[in-house]
Amino acid sequence: MTTVAAYAAPAAKAPLERTTIERRAVGEFDVLIDIKFAGICHSDIHQAREGWGEAIFPMVPGHEIAGVVSEVGSGVTKFQVGDRVGVGCMVDSCRECENCLRGEEQYCLKGMVGTYNAVGKDGQPTYGGYSEKIVVDENYVLRIPDGLSLDVAAPLLCAGITTYSPLNHWNAGPGKKVAVVGLGGLGHMAVKIAHAMGAEVTVLSQSLRKKDDGLKLGADHYHATSDPKTFEELAGTFDLIVSTVSAPMDFGALLSLLRVDGALVNVGAPEEPIALNLFSVIGGRKTLAGSMIGGIRETQEMLDFCAEHGIGAEIELISAAEVNEAYERVLASDVRYRFVIDTATI
Ligand code: NAP
Ligand code: ZN
Ligand code: ZN
Repeated sequence: MTTVAAYAAPAAKAPLERTTIERRAVGEFDVLIDIKFAGICHSDIHQAREGWGEAIFPMVPGHEIAGVVSEVGSGVTKFQVGDRVGVGCMVDSCRECENCLRGEEQYCLKGMVGTYNAVGKDGQPTYGGYSEKIVVDENYVLRIPDGLSLDVAAPLLCAGITTYSPLNHWNAGPGKKVAVVGLGGLGHMAVKIAHAMGAEVTVLSQSLRKKDDGLKLGADHYHATSDPKTFEELAGTFDLIVSTVSAPMDFGALLSLLRVDGALVNVGAPEEPIALNLFSVIGGRKTLAGSMIGGIRETQEMLDFCAEHGIGAEIELISAAEVNEAYERVLASDVRYRFVIDTATI
Protein backbone atom coordinates (compact mmCIF):
# COMPACT_ATOMS: atom_id res chain seq x y z
CA MET A 1 0.00 0.00 0.00
CA THR A 2 1.14 3.54 -0.68
CA THR A 3 -0.19 6.62 1.04
CA VAL A 4 -0.89 9.47 -1.37
CA ALA A 5 -2.28 12.98 -1.00
CA ALA A 6 -5.72 13.64 -2.43
CA TYR A 7 -8.64 16.06 -2.39
CA ALA A 8 -11.79 14.52 -1.01
CA ALA A 9 -15.35 15.37 -0.05
CA PRO A 10 -15.64 14.02 3.53
CA ALA A 11 -19.46 13.88 3.31
CA ALA A 12 -22.24 14.73 0.86
CA LYS A 13 -22.32 18.44 -0.01
CA ALA A 14 -19.27 19.15 2.19
CA PRO A 15 -16.45 21.16 0.59
CA LEU A 16 -13.53 19.15 -0.70
CA GLU A 17 -10.39 19.24 1.41
CA ARG A 18 -6.87 17.86 1.35
CA THR A 19 -6.45 14.42 2.83
CA THR A 20 -4.50 11.20 2.29
CA ILE A 21 -5.68 7.86 0.88
CA GLU A 22 -4.14 4.43 0.47
CA ARG A 23 -3.45 3.01 -2.99
CA ARG A 24 -3.14 -0.77 -3.30
CA ALA A 25 0.27 -2.37 -3.93
CA VAL A 26 1.02 -2.75 -7.65
CA GLY A 27 -0.32 -6.19 -8.63
CA GLU A 28 0.84 -8.45 -11.48
CA PHE A 29 -1.28 -6.71 -14.12
CA ASP A 30 -1.36 -3.24 -12.56
CA VAL A 31 0.14 0.04 -13.65
CA LEU A 32 1.10 2.75 -11.15
CA ILE A 33 0.42 6.17 -12.61
CA ASP A 34 1.82 9.49 -11.41
CA ILE A 35 -1.21 11.67 -12.03
CA LYS A 36 -0.31 15.01 -13.61
CA PHE A 37 -3.73 16.45 -14.43
CA ALA A 38 -7.34 15.69 -13.50
CA GLY A 39 -10.33 17.27 -15.22
CA ILE A 40 -13.45 18.35 -13.34
CA CYS A 41 -16.56 16.78 -14.85
CA HIS A 42 -20.06 17.86 -13.85
CA SER A 43 -20.59 14.22 -12.84
CA ASP A 44 -18.05 14.80 -10.05
CA ILE A 45 -20.35 17.46 -8.64
CA HIS A 46 -23.55 15.40 -9.04
CA GLN A 47 -21.89 12.58 -7.10
CA ALA A 48 -20.08 14.61 -4.43
CA ARG A 49 -23.44 16.22 -3.59
CA GLU A 50 -25.38 12.92 -3.79
CA GLY A 51 -27.51 14.34 -6.58
CA TRP A 52 -27.76 10.88 -8.16
CA GLY A 53 -28.44 9.07 -4.91
CA GLU A 54 -26.46 7.64 -2.04
CA ALA A 55 -22.71 7.81 -2.52
CA ILE A 56 -19.54 6.54 -0.81
CA PHE A 57 -17.58 8.96 1.44
CA PRO A 58 -14.93 10.15 1.75
CA MET A 59 -15.07 10.65 -2.02
CA VAL A 60 -12.05 11.50 -4.16
CA PRO A 61 -13.68 12.46 -7.46
CA GLY A 62 -11.96 12.63 -10.84
CA HIS A 63 -12.34 10.41 -13.89
CA GLU A 64 -10.45 12.49 -16.41
CA ILE A 65 -6.95 11.43 -15.51
CA ALA A 66 -3.72 12.02 -17.41
CA GLY A 67 -0.28 11.05 -16.14
CA VAL A 68 2.87 9.03 -16.56
CA VAL A 69 3.51 5.37 -15.73
CA SER A 70 5.98 5.06 -12.84
CA GLU A 71 5.84 1.32 -12.14
CA VAL A 72 4.37 -1.78 -13.80
CA GLY A 73 3.50 -5.23 -12.46
CA SER A 74 5.44 -8.29 -13.63
CA GLY A 75 2.68 -9.42 -16.00
CA VAL A 76 2.04 -6.05 -17.67
CA THR A 77 2.62 -6.13 -21.44
CA LYS A 78 0.90 -3.01 -22.72
CA PHE A 79 2.76 -0.27 -20.83
CA GLN A 80 6.24 0.66 -19.67
CA VAL A 81 7.61 3.11 -17.14
CA GLY A 82 7.56 6.59 -18.69
CA ASP A 83 4.51 6.02 -20.93
CA ARG A 84 1.97 8.84 -21.11
CA VAL A 85 -1.39 7.41 -20.12
CA GLY A 86 -4.95 8.19 -19.18
CA VAL A 87 -7.73 6.71 -17.10
CA GLY A 88 -11.40 7.50 -17.64
CA CYS A 89 -14.61 6.61 -15.83
CA MET A 90 -14.00 2.91 -15.22
CA VAL A 91 -11.16 0.87 -13.76
CA ASP A 92 -12.61 -2.63 -14.12
CA SER A 93 -15.57 -4.70 -15.31
CA CYS A 94 -16.48 -8.42 -15.35
CA ARG A 95 -14.58 -9.05 -18.65
CA GLU A 96 -16.89 -12.00 -19.42
CA CYS A 97 -20.37 -10.72 -20.27
CA GLU A 98 -21.44 -10.10 -23.84
CA ASN A 99 -20.93 -6.37 -23.52
CA CYS A 100 -17.44 -6.67 -22.04
CA LEU A 101 -16.51 -9.21 -24.71
CA ARG A 102 -17.47 -6.85 -27.49
CA GLY A 103 -15.50 -4.00 -25.96
CA GLU A 104 -18.40 -2.09 -24.43
CA GLU A 105 -17.27 -2.52 -20.85
CA GLN A 106 -19.19 0.59 -19.82
CA TYR A 107 -22.36 -1.48 -20.25
CA CYS A 108 -20.99 -4.49 -18.33
CA LEU A 109 -23.96 -6.62 -17.27
CA LYS A 110 -22.46 -7.01 -13.80
CA GLY A 111 -21.75 -3.29 -13.60
CA MET A 112 -18.50 -1.57 -14.47
CA VAL A 113 -16.29 -0.53 -11.56
CA GLY A 114 -16.28 3.26 -11.51
CA THR A 115 -12.99 5.09 -11.05
CA TYR A 116 -14.44 6.51 -7.82
CA ASN A 117 -17.62 6.20 -5.77
CA ALA A 118 -17.57 2.45 -6.43
CA VAL A 119 -16.28 -0.72 -4.82
CA GLY A 120 -13.44 -2.57 -6.55
CA LYS A 121 -13.13 -6.34 -6.93
CA ASP A 122 -10.96 -6.30 -3.78
CA GLY A 123 -13.93 -4.98 -1.81
CA GLN A 124 -12.28 -1.59 -1.26
CA PRO A 125 -13.78 1.75 -2.30
CA THR A 126 -12.28 3.28 -5.42
CA TYR A 127 -10.77 6.77 -5.33
CA GLY A 128 -10.44 9.00 -8.38
CA GLY A 129 -8.08 11.41 -10.02
CA TYR A 130 -7.90 14.34 -7.61
CA SER A 131 -4.84 12.66 -6.16
CA GLU A 132 -1.12 12.15 -6.73
CA LYS A 133 -1.10 8.54 -7.91
CA ILE A 134 -3.46 5.75 -8.93
CA VAL A 135 -3.07 1.99 -9.46
CA VAL A 136 -5.11 0.58 -12.34
CA ASP A 137 -5.24 -2.75 -14.20
CA GLU A 138 -3.51 -2.29 -17.56
CA ASN A 139 -6.67 -3.27 -19.48
CA TYR A 140 -8.40 -0.11 -18.29
CA VAL A 141 -5.53 2.27 -19.05
CA LEU A 142 -5.35 4.32 -22.26
CA ARG A 143 -2.35 5.53 -24.19
CA ILE A 144 -2.15 9.30 -24.74
CA PRO A 145 -0.66 9.91 -28.19
CA ASP A 146 2.51 12.03 -28.37
CA GLY A 147 0.78 14.87 -30.21
CA LEU A 148 -1.48 15.68 -27.24
CA SER A 149 -0.27 17.50 -24.13
CA LEU A 150 -1.42 15.85 -20.94
CA ASP A 151 -3.32 18.87 -19.59
CA VAL A 152 -5.64 19.25 -22.60
CA ALA A 153 -5.85 15.47 -23.02
CA ALA A 154 -7.20 14.79 -19.51
CA PRO A 155 -10.78 15.93 -20.28
CA LEU A 156 -10.88 13.67 -23.33
CA LEU A 157 -11.07 10.68 -20.96
CA CYS A 158 -14.68 11.55 -20.12
CA ALA A 159 -15.91 14.63 -22.03
CA GLY A 160 -14.14 13.47 -25.20
CA ILE A 161 -15.33 9.87 -25.27
CA THR A 162 -18.85 10.67 -24.05
CA THR A 163 -19.40 12.86 -27.09
CA TYR A 164 -17.25 10.96 -29.61
CA SER A 165 -19.13 7.70 -28.98
CA PRO A 166 -22.64 8.88 -29.93
CA LEU A 167 -21.32 11.03 -32.79
CA ASN A 168 -19.55 7.95 -34.11
CA HIS A 169 -22.45 5.55 -33.46
CA TRP A 170 -25.03 7.81 -35.14
CA ASN A 171 -22.70 8.53 -38.07
CA ALA A 172 -21.99 12.24 -37.74
CA GLY A 173 -20.06 13.22 -40.85
CA PRO A 174 -20.26 15.05 -44.18
CA GLY A 175 -23.81 15.88 -45.21
CA LYS A 176 -25.14 15.48 -41.66
CA LYS A 177 -26.62 18.32 -39.65
CA VAL A 178 -25.69 17.91 -36.01
CA ALA A 179 -26.83 20.08 -33.10
CA VAL A 180 -25.06 20.18 -29.76
CA VAL A 181 -27.15 21.35 -26.80
CA GLY A 182 -25.19 23.04 -23.98
CA LEU A 183 -21.73 24.49 -24.50
CA GLY A 184 -19.94 23.25 -21.40
CA GLY A 185 -17.26 20.60 -20.93
CA LEU A 186 -18.99 17.89 -22.96
CA GLY A 187 -20.62 20.33 -25.37
CA HIS A 188 -17.42 22.04 -26.46
CA MET A 189 -15.81 18.65 -27.13
CA ALA A 190 -18.88 17.59 -29.13
CA VAL A 191 -18.54 20.70 -31.29
CA LYS A 192 -14.84 20.10 -31.98
CA ILE A 193 -15.27 16.40 -32.70
CA ALA A 194 -18.42 16.72 -34.85
CA HIS A 195 -16.70 19.46 -36.85
CA ALA A 196 -13.60 17.28 -37.33
CA MET A 197 -15.86 14.43 -38.48
CA GLY A 198 -17.13 16.75 -41.22
CA ALA A 199 -20.67 17.42 -39.99
CA GLU A 200 -22.46 20.78 -40.18
CA VAL A 201 -22.59 21.80 -36.54
CA THR A 202 -25.08 24.00 -34.70
CA VAL A 203 -24.79 24.98 -31.04
CA LEU A 204 -27.98 25.38 -29.03
CA SER A 205 -27.03 27.25 -25.87
CA GLN A 206 -29.18 29.02 -23.30
CA SER A 207 -27.98 32.41 -24.59
CA LEU A 208 -25.71 33.91 -27.25
CA ARG A 209 -23.10 34.77 -24.57
CA LYS A 210 -20.58 32.19 -25.85
CA LYS A 211 -21.36 32.56 -29.57
CA ASP A 212 -17.88 33.76 -30.62
CA ASP A 213 -16.28 30.85 -28.80
CA GLY A 214 -18.69 28.36 -30.31
CA LEU A 215 -17.91 29.50 -33.85
CA LYS A 216 -14.16 29.36 -33.12
CA LEU A 217 -14.51 25.82 -31.77
CA GLY A 218 -15.92 24.77 -35.14
CA ALA A 219 -19.67 25.42 -35.05
CA ASP A 220 -21.27 26.67 -38.26
CA HIS A 221 -24.35 28.11 -36.52
CA TYR A 222 -25.25 29.21 -33.01
CA HIS A 223 -28.71 29.76 -31.52
CA ALA A 224 -30.19 30.55 -28.11
CA THR A 225 -32.75 28.13 -26.70
CA SER A 226 -34.15 31.01 -24.62
CA ASP A 227 -35.40 32.59 -27.87
CA PRO A 228 -38.66 30.96 -29.03
CA LYS A 229 -37.80 31.95 -32.62
CA THR A 230 -34.98 29.36 -32.54
CA PHE A 231 -37.56 26.57 -32.37
CA GLU A 232 -39.62 28.05 -35.22
CA GLU A 233 -36.63 28.60 -37.50
CA LEU A 234 -34.96 25.25 -36.90
CA ALA A 235 -38.02 22.96 -36.80
CA GLY A 236 -37.35 19.68 -38.65
CA THR A 237 -33.67 20.52 -39.35
CA PHE A 238 -31.28 18.07 -37.68
CA ASP A 239 -30.21 14.49 -38.35
CA LEU A 240 -28.70 14.22 -34.90
CA ILE A 241 -28.96 16.24 -31.70
CA VAL A 242 -26.62 15.52 -28.80
CA SER A 243 -27.84 16.99 -25.53
CA THR A 244 -25.18 17.55 -22.90
CA VAL A 245 -27.39 19.54 -20.55
CA SER A 246 -26.91 18.84 -16.85
CA ALA A 247 -30.39 19.98 -15.78
CA PRO A 248 -33.88 18.87 -16.85
CA MET A 249 -35.00 20.56 -20.06
CA ASP A 250 -37.79 20.46 -22.61
CA PHE A 251 -36.99 17.39 -24.70
CA GLY A 252 -40.25 17.75 -26.61
CA ALA A 253 -38.99 21.07 -27.95
CA LEU A 254 -35.63 19.53 -28.90
CA LEU A 255 -37.33 16.58 -30.66
CA SER A 256 -39.28 19.08 -32.81
CA LEU A 257 -35.95 20.14 -34.31
CA LEU A 258 -35.25 16.67 -35.79
CA ARG A 259 -35.88 15.58 -39.34
CA VAL A 260 -37.88 12.41 -40.02
CA ASP A 261 -35.75 9.50 -38.70
CA GLY A 262 -33.52 11.88 -36.76
CA ALA A 263 -32.14 11.00 -33.35
CA LEU A 264 -31.89 12.98 -30.13
CA VAL A 265 -29.16 11.39 -28.04
CA ASN A 266 -29.03 12.47 -24.45
CA VAL A 267 -25.75 12.27 -22.56
CA GLY A 268 -26.60 14.79 -19.83
CA ALA A 269 -27.45 13.21 -16.48
CA PRO A 270 -29.80 15.59 -14.63
CA GLU A 271 -30.73 14.78 -11.07
CA GLU A 272 -34.46 15.10 -11.73
CA PRO A 273 -36.67 13.17 -14.19
CA ILE A 274 -38.35 14.88 -17.14
CA ALA A 275 -41.88 14.63 -18.46
CA LEU A 276 -42.26 13.95 -22.16
CA ASN A 277 -45.28 13.82 -24.43
CA LEU A 278 -44.66 10.74 -26.58
CA PHE A 279 -46.30 12.37 -29.58
CA SER A 280 -42.93 14.11 -29.94
CA VAL A 281 -41.34 10.87 -31.18
CA ILE A 282 -44.32 9.37 -33.02
CA GLY A 283 -44.58 12.15 -35.57
CA GLY A 284 -41.42 11.86 -37.67
CA ARG A 285 -40.40 8.34 -36.56
CA LYS A 286 -37.85 9.91 -34.25
CA THR A 287 -35.42 8.23 -31.91
CA LEU A 288 -34.76 9.34 -28.36
CA ALA A 289 -31.65 7.59 -27.12
CA GLY A 290 -28.98 7.79 -24.46
CA SER A 291 -25.28 7.02 -24.39
CA MET A 292 -22.78 6.48 -21.60
CA ILE A 293 -19.05 7.20 -22.03
CA GLY A 294 -17.49 4.56 -24.35
CA GLY A 295 -15.61 1.27 -24.18
CA ILE A 296 -11.85 1.02 -23.79
CA ARG A 297 -11.24 0.28 -27.48
CA GLU A 298 -13.38 3.20 -28.61
CA THR A 299 -11.75 5.50 -26.04
CA GLN A 300 -8.34 4.72 -27.54
CA GLU A 301 -9.79 5.31 -31.02
CA MET A 302 -11.09 8.70 -29.83
CA LEU A 303 -7.69 9.69 -28.39
CA ASP A 304 -5.98 8.76 -31.66
CA PHE A 305 -8.64 10.67 -33.63
CA CYS A 306 -8.16 13.76 -31.44
CA ALA A 307 -4.37 13.61 -31.82
CA GLU A 308 -4.69 13.26 -35.59
CA HIS A 309 -7.01 16.28 -35.75
CA GLY A 310 -5.12 18.35 -33.17
CA ILE A 311 -8.06 18.33 -30.78
CA GLY A 312 -7.60 18.92 -27.06
CA ALA A 313 -9.98 20.45 -24.54
CA GLU A 314 -10.10 24.20 -23.88
CA ILE A 315 -9.02 24.28 -20.28
CA GLU A 316 -8.66 26.52 -17.28
CA LEU A 317 -5.82 25.08 -15.22
CA ILE A 318 -6.40 25.44 -11.47
CA SER A 319 -4.69 24.46 -8.25
CA ALA A 320 -6.32 21.81 -6.07
CA ALA A 321 -7.24 24.45 -3.47
CA GLU A 322 -9.48 26.13 -6.08
CA VAL A 323 -11.64 23.06 -6.62
CA ASN A 324 -14.63 24.19 -4.51
CA GLU A 325 -14.74 27.53 -6.30
CA ALA A 326 -14.50 25.72 -9.65
CA TYR A 327 -17.51 23.55 -8.68
CA GLU A 328 -19.59 26.69 -8.08
CA ARG A 329 -18.57 28.09 -11.45
CA VAL A 330 -19.49 24.85 -13.25
CA LEU A 331 -22.92 24.95 -11.56
CA ALA A 332 -23.34 28.53 -12.81
CA SER A 333 -22.45 27.46 -16.41
CA ASP A 334 -19.40 29.69 -16.01
CA VAL A 335 -16.70 27.40 -17.35
CA ARG A 336 -14.67 27.84 -20.53
CA TYR A 337 -14.66 24.97 -21.04
CA ARG A 338 -13.13 22.51 -18.59
CA PHE A 339 -11.41 23.05 -15.26
CA VAL A 340 -8.32 20.89 -14.94
CA ILE A 341 -6.50 20.42 -11.63
CA ASP A 342 -2.72 20.56 -11.70
CA THR A 343 -2.20 17.67 -9.31
CA ALA A 344 1.29 18.91 -8.40
CA THR A 345 -0.59 21.43 -6.18
CA ILE A 346 -2.34 18.80 -4.06
P1 NAP B 1 -21.08 21.45 -17.84
O1 NAP B 1 -19.69 21.76 -18.23
O2 NAP B 1 -21.68 22.07 -16.64
O3 NAP B 1 -22.01 21.71 -19.14
C1 NAP B 1 -23.40 21.59 -19.10
C2 NAP B 1 -24.00 22.69 -19.97
O4 NAP B 1 -25.41 22.51 -19.95
C3 NAP B 1 -23.78 24.09 -19.44
O5 NAP B 1 -22.56 24.63 -19.85
C4 NAP B 1 -24.94 24.83 -20.05
O6 NAP B 1 -24.62 25.18 -21.40
C5 NAP B 1 -26.03 23.78 -20.11
N1 NAP B 1 -26.99 23.97 -19.00
C6 NAP B 1 -26.73 23.93 -17.68
N2 NAP B 1 -27.85 24.14 -16.98
C7 NAP B 1 -28.84 24.30 -17.87
C8 NAP B 1 -30.23 24.53 -17.77
N3 NAP B 1 -30.84 24.66 -16.57
N4 NAP B 1 -30.96 24.62 -18.92
C9 NAP B 1 -30.36 24.50 -20.11
N5 NAP B 1 -29.03 24.28 -20.27
C10 NAP B 1 -28.29 24.18 -19.17
O7 NAP B 1 -21.23 19.87 -17.58
P2 NAP B 1 -20.50 18.65 -18.33
O8 NAP B 1 -19.33 18.23 -17.52
O9 NAP B 1 -20.36 18.97 -19.76
O10 NAP B 1 -21.60 17.50 -18.12
C11 NAP B 1 -22.91 17.67 -18.68
C12 NAP B 1 -23.84 16.57 -18.17
O11 NAP B 1 -23.42 15.32 -18.73
C13 NAP B 1 -23.80 16.37 -16.66
O12 NAP B 1 -25.11 16.07 -16.21
C14 NAP B 1 -22.89 15.16 -16.48
O13 NAP B 1 -23.15 14.45 -15.31
C15 NAP B 1 -23.28 14.36 -17.69
N6 NAP B 1 -22.29 13.38 -18.14
C16 NAP B 1 -22.74 12.25 -18.68
C17 NAP B 1 -21.85 11.32 -19.19
C18 NAP B 1 -22.36 10.09 -19.88
O14 NAP B 1 -21.60 9.11 -19.97
N7 NAP B 1 -23.56 10.10 -20.41
C19 NAP B 1 -20.48 11.55 -19.10
C20 NAP B 1 -20.04 12.75 -18.54
C21 NAP B 1 -20.95 13.67 -18.07
P3 NAP B 1 -24.98 26.64 -22.00
O15 NAP B 1 -24.38 27.61 -21.03
O16 NAP B 1 -24.33 26.60 -23.33
O17 NAP B 1 -26.45 26.71 -22.08
ZN1 ZN C 1 -17.37 12.67 -16.57
ZN1 ZN D 1 -19.08 -7.46 -18.13
